[in-house]
Amino acid sequence: MNSNRVVVINTGGTIAMEENPTASGVGNANPAKLQSILSLVQTPVQVTMHHFLEKPSPHITLPDMYRLALRVQSELKQDSVTGVVITHGTDTLEETAYFLHLTIDSHKPVVLTGAMRSHNELGADGPRNLVQSIRVASDPNAQHRGTLIVFNDEIHSAEAVTKVHTHQTSTFQSPGKGPIGLIAKQKIHFFYSPQHHPLIPLTPPSADIVLIKAVADLDERWIQFAIDQQVDGIVIEALGQGNLPPKILPACQQAIQQNIPILLVSRCLEGRVEATYDYEGGGKQLAKQGFILYPDLQGQKARILLTLARSAQKNLPNYQPFFQK
Ligand code: ASP
Repeated sequence: MNSNRVVVINTGGTIAMEENPTASGVGNANPAKLQSILSLVQTPVQVTMHHFLEKPSPHITLPDMYRLALRVQSELKQDSVTGVVITHGTDTLEETAYFLHLTIDSHKPVVLTGAMRSHNELGADGPRNLVQSIRVASDPNAQHRGTLIVFNDEIHSAEAVTKVHTHQTSTFQSPGKGPIGLIAKQKIHFFYSPQHHPLIPLTPPSADIVLIKAVADLDERWIQFAIDQQVDGIVIEALGQGNLPPKILPACQQAIQQNIPILLVSRCLEGRVEATYDYEGGGKQLAKQGFILYPDLQGQKARILLTLARSAQKNLPNYQPFFQK
């Protein structure tokens, strides 16, 4: 039996779509188009492809991510499987990737990829991205690096990557950190291993977490609404190093008193959140008031982190979330 096997799990997105020249829109293609890309793989590896979902990524839900994580885990448990590749729409790819990064307990590579141009558009990037992902997933050097994103000949960590461009094929970047590796014609080069948040036990994602972006003169209605909705946690993309407009503070304090945790990340693309400023709403005061300052994570991924941590807390009485790096 071949012990070097990569399993490809398709979930949809542009990589599984085609342009309709008469209607000039992009929609689902025959899954056989994705399967046909496998004939381009030159790496000595056996590849098995499964069509798991056929969704554009704005339709991907937290239960979809959970079911995908269970599937990935069961594939990785097989001795013959070296790694898993997931094809996914690019819009929410980083959220699914981070969900898997936080929950998949395996040293084997999990790689997400997709495309910005469907298979019949000029410069279609899906075939290259998929073939490169299979190369990475079968490379022993890709082990112990968590969940990876392969796009445009670069390898990014799920911790740092984000979609930065609406249509360019170089859309996935890791601001302030850069890719963790490059895929050259003959070799795959890794530069560093990403920092890992501790794994969170995989349980059904039942926690309701809201993400609010701080803006100048933000008022407290949105925080109050979240409290009234009895959410399980609030993520705020705060200003700069982790500061908030003073008007929202009374509602935030009410949330914290009601055991609704508030995780603070920054709306800046680079740098870290730190308890620096000691004015009203400054990060130093917020830390003393019970806000959780999280150093460097985009809001949409912080929401995944808090969702998983709060869900595990609900489902496993002894689970203690760990928010410090
Ligand atoms: N809207 C598409 C999606 O996320 C974009 C893509 O796949 O690139 O499914």
